[in-house]
Amino acid sequence: MSIPMLLPPYLLEAIAERGPEPAAERARATLRRDAEIRSARSTTSPAPPTPAPGATPGQPNRTIFSANNTEQLPGDEARAEGAPATGDPAVDEAYDGLGATWQLFFDAYSRDSLDGRGMPMLGTVHYGTDYANAFWDGKQMVFGDGDGELFNRFTASLDVIGHELSHGVIEFTAGLRYADQSGALNESVADVFGALVKQHQLGQTADQADWLIGAELFTDKVRGVALRSMIEPGSAYDDPVLGKDPQPGHMDGFVTTTDDNGGVHINSGIPNKAFQLAATALGGNAWERAGAIWYAALTGDQISADCDFATFARLTSQAAAAIGETEAEAVRRAWAEVGLPVDEAPDAEQRPAPAPASEPAPSSEPAPSSEPGAPDDRIGDDAELYLGRSGGFTGMSRSREFRLGELSPPDADSWRQLLGGPELTTWSRSDAPEPDRYTYRVACRTVPLDVQLPEPELPDQVRELFHRTLDG
Ligand SMILES: [Zn+2]
Repeated sequence: MSIPMLLPPYLLEAIAERGPEPAAERARATLRRDAEIRSARSTTSPAPPTPAPGATPGQPNRTIFSANNTEQLPGDEARAEGAPATGDPAVDEAYDGLGATWQLFFDAYSRDSLDGRGMPMLGTVHYGTDYANAFWDGKQMVFGDGDGELFNRFTASLDVIGHELSHGVIEFTAGLRYADQSGALNESVADVFGALVKQHQLGQTADQADWLIGAELFTDKVRGVALRSMIEPGSAYDDPVLGKDPQPGHMDGFVTTTDDNGGVHINSGIPNKAFQLAATALGGNAWERAGAIWYAALTGDQISADCDFATFARLTSQAAAAIGETEAEAVRRAWAEVGLPVDEAPDAEQRPAPAPASEPAPSSEPAPSSEPGAPDDRIGDDAELYLGRSGGFTGMSRSREFRLGELSPPDADSWRQLLGGPELTTWSRSDAPEPDRYTYRVACRTVPLDVQLPEPELPDQVRELFHRTLDG
């Protein structure tokens, strides 16, 4: 089950590395906590999407909790469905944001909650201390208060709430595989419906909308307007600490990378721009025609988990044609403008996308003579390693090349143990990656070994070793 995390790890890492104190320490604390949460989640299974007992069909069923700045979930109940506003902005924004998301999907697409069956919507606020992140863990939303330095509280941004909950809708429908183009499509569709939640709530037409994701999150210390721009991908921020928004808005700028599950948070700018162009060309409320077309493609029986951009362009064009030729023309033109002319799309046959994270590396068989758990003394202090981490909200990555001798003796021994044992190869054969989670790459010529490791597979102590090695 996915654990969508809002703030991209690379932004947190940039802050941890270059940000002013105390924001830098808070970012480091958030990174540590994220790792702990993911570890805890990876050992529990989410609740099945059964309707809540006593739930009223056609009405949202929300409960907001407060963790009271602890990390206990769900925390104390703070506001149940139908209860009056509490006066706590985080509680009330979460309540309203979950409600606005429910309302968009119900009003515009007759969908009752994320699963279409009235699934209860739960949210916890005041999670942790200075926690600069938000995520949906398959069961509930979790919001931190932000670090107050670079990021405001995460309930402040309605489209961010809508984005994370839309990951849930995608899971219950197309189930887009979270890597390469289908992964970027997953990210883009979450942005599309996140933006539509906000536009629907504000009653904005496509022309009136700002097409920004997370415009409320940055404090005035950050040089940027939002986390992402759908109208001008790549322009959302350009900041000394955070770096520059890396998104392309055209296939000419498509980024080919193994980082970030194939650049899912980067290349999502391309279908984002196509949606914005189609919605603006059609005019009026974007959730009505353009949104209905995207929703029909997402929930139709033609889409597969490995759907690529060209196939989604064709599916949306077909959905548009079912409404009218004006709609079909607007959608085709929008895709053509981002470098995806629909006429050149392949037929219904979809090529399977590669799954680099789950393929065993050919050179990664463990040394047969080594016992798991015992340091491999053949790997000396001069052995060179590469450790990379990618993934997160927009796909920046971090890496380090080093010799074992540069590490503390206990950490060097831990690496020798890992490199000599079978675990790294085993973990690299795991299932498909999940939204907004880290992927690690470990390479070493001495062994030799070159593997991609989804974070949910890693035991706590290994993840901590990776953190120390990268950050220390
Ligand atoms: Zn996401």
